[in-house]
Amino acid sequence: RNSAEKFEFQAEVSRLMDIIINSLYSNKDIFLRELISNASDALDKIRFLALTEKEVLGEGDTAKLEIQIKLDKENKILSIRDRGVGMTKEDLIKNLGTIAKSGTSAFVEKMQTGGDLNLIGQFGVGFYSVYLVADYVEVVSKHNDDKQYVWESKADGSFAISEDTWNEPLGRGTEIKLHLRDEAKEYLEEGKLKELVKKYSEFINFPIYLWATKEVDVEVPADEEESSEEESTPETSEEEETEDEEEKKPKTKTVKETTTEWELLNDMKAVWLRNPKEVTEEEYAKFYHSLAKDFGDDKPMSWSHFSAEGDVEFKALLFVPPKAPHDLYESYYNANKSNLKLFVRRVFISDEFDDLLPKYLSFLMGIVDSDTLPLNVSREMLQQHSSLKTIKKKLIRKALDMIRKLAEEDPDEYSNKEKTDEEKSAMEKKRGQYAKFWNEFGKSIKLGIIEDATNRNRLAKLLRFESSKSDGKLVSLDEYISRMKSGQKDIFYLTGSSKEQLEKSPFLEQLTKKNYEVIYFTDPVDEYLMQYLMDYEDKKFQNVSKEGLKLGKDSKLKDLKESFKELTDWWKKALDTEGIDSVKISNRLHNTPCVVVTSKYGWSSNMEKIMQAQTL
Ligand code: ADP
Ligand code: MG
Repeated sequence: RNSAEKFEFQAEVSRLMDIIINSLYSNKDIFLRELISNASDALDKIRFLALTEKEVLGEGDTAKLEIQIKLDKENKILSIRDRGVGMTKEDLIKNLGTIAKSGTSAFVEKMQTGGDLNLIGQFGVGFYSVYLVADYVEVVSKHNDDKQYVWESKADGSFAISEDTWNEPLGRGTEIKLHLRDEAKEYLEEGKLKELVKKYSEFINFPIYLWATKEVDVEVPADEEESSEEESTPETSEEEETEDEEEKKPKTKTVKETTTEWELLNDMKAVWLRNPKEVTEEEYAKFYHSLAKDFGDDKPMSWSHFSAEGDVEFKALLFVPPKAPHDLYESYYNANKSNLKLFVRRVFISDEFDDLLPKYLSFLMGIVDSDTLPLNVSREMLQQHSSLKTIKKKLIRKALDMIRKLAEEDPDEYSNKEKTDEEKSAMEKKRGQYAKFWNEFGKSIKLGIIEDATNRNRLAKLLRFESSKSDGKLVSLDEYISRMKSGQKDIFYLTGSSKEQLEKSPFLEQLTKKNYEVIYFTDPVDEYLMQYLMDYEDKKFQNVSKEGLKLGKDSKLKDLKESFKELTDWWKKALDTEGIDSVKISNRLHNTPCVVVTSKYGWSSNMEKIMQAQTL
């Protein structure tokens, strides 16, 4: 085409497309779900804009917020059309090729190390999955602010953009035309498409229609000879005859005829608005998959579906994913990574509200739908709305309850000691689920203890660690406290880089000998954690490598201190220039003659190492 402008794909995008086009991945179905998801996003956007500016919707068919799928068997074209927000020329250039998203290279890397293509949507590059099934793709788009344009590419490193002067005007929205490869002909079968929409796009909030053939019964005039030539007989005369002679056989018959019409493929259920008692586990799992764009076999670890009443009314559905996402702790403090979708009266508002959940709970997936929030204000105004604070508070409480339950249902957990064997065997399929949760998201709980003073105690209950007595299992603070020795006042812990290193620590000698339990903290974040977690259930935490360790009364200690005073004084003087605060006689050791202890308020030696590693 004369007027076409050519553009090179950004290098990472080009690599991604090469990988997709050469992929031997067998589950090519996923492209449809990605296109429908994009269409739904675009519809969400225009519906949101229409809240404050009704005119943007347009009139007649253009105002219909729906998705249409059409098959052209003859030309082997599958097209998916939406009446969403559409793309301007600039949007087409940026969104479909020249600006790589942060997920692009992450996904390319994943694919090179045998990653699952199924996760493409999570990386924000789902559109390119069209090249699993098509070798040539056209994107026709019309945005309210621009003319209609066509983007096209054969995935050969470049794409072209032209002003559209030949297709039917879209009114508004986008139509993606896939010129299917020979091996992908199955996507021209109506049955296949119906099946896929059922499977993957059940929870899309807009109607999805397929231009489908349908067998219909039609009444046609019947006459004795069944000769088609006779059809030309004027109808009026026949009617008159029938009216006259009641006895006569009916003059019409039923035949099958094929017509084509829009067939609705989904029922747009809003799972979160339903009564939790009526939603099956299977439905929750499927809803999670569509929400998370994670179509693996893993079910979510847990979910909480509830409605809040009172001043602020809302319904919410929260999920603990089966696995931590690939970038959970990447640029944790800078990025906005909320995975909650906010709806107001079923209208999708945003999934970028950073103030619905605190950062440490950003691993949760879910949706919140509120009747209390106003519909006709901007996102910025909404972000300021006083109800959000109440919503946030309740969401945190419910989220922590849900996580606590994961532990309570797990027969491996200490908190379940009191349960009868019968109860425990009923919980058998939940065995080990809390350890699994802890492996994936334990760090988030620790970050929560650091960040959320209000819920610190609740979060501390969820904390797990290994200890000198844990024997490879995970211990909770409650379990630790339950077996504290009589007379033991503090909770003992030690920090280091690994369990193996800590087990050999001279600081443990006397404690182990006297049968005290010591918590091992081996994650760098633990050092920070312990600066915030001062006590738990009225017990103080004592780092056993620090000053202040008290191991019950020792009458001999006072005498020893006296008789060795001369030695300790001499020693202190000798080491004065080395930055030593004091030299003391101690009962904390058994075999090792002496150790260097850090002062109560100073950094532990492990913390020194961490800080050094960070600044170097
Ligand atoms: P994601 O949907 O995660 O953003 P995609 O690769 O699926 O990533 O889509 C890339 C971008 O292209 C979208 O963010 C959107 O801006 C644009 N886009 C794709 N499909 C449509 C569509 N049907 N209508 C409007 N914009 C679209
Ligand atoms: Mg997408």
